[in-house]
Amino acid sequence: MAFYTAKNKGGKDWTPTFIESIDHEKCIGCGRCYKVCSRGVLGPEDLEDEESESIRMVMSIIDDSKCIGCVACGVSCSKKAFSFRPMAV
Ligand code: SF4
Ligand code: SF4
Repeated sequence: MAFYTAKNKGGKDWTPTFIESIDHEKCIGCGRCYKVCSRGVLGPEDLEDEESESIRMVMSIIDDSKCIGCVACGVSCSKKAFSFRPMAV
């Protein structure tokens, strides 16, 4: 399968990997990923915890069509909650 590729500034091939999902079991709602994403892809969401019957904040994908595949969000996440994949062409 072929994937969308671009060139970096040095002229080398670069295959962006775009946001696929955020694992809400791992997310602690620290907001680091939200701060590093400049594309408006992410947003906080209140999640009801059935076990403790409390509300906790997690990060969610609000518009993945804006993702440029930089993976800055994943690098910023100490909980490794992100999944990415390249775009098939
Ligand atoms: S950086 Fe990771 S743990 Fe923090 S809000 Fe984002 S997904 Fe959740
Ligand atoms: S990969 Fe880059 S553009 Fe896409 S959601 Fe993460 S930080 Fe934003």
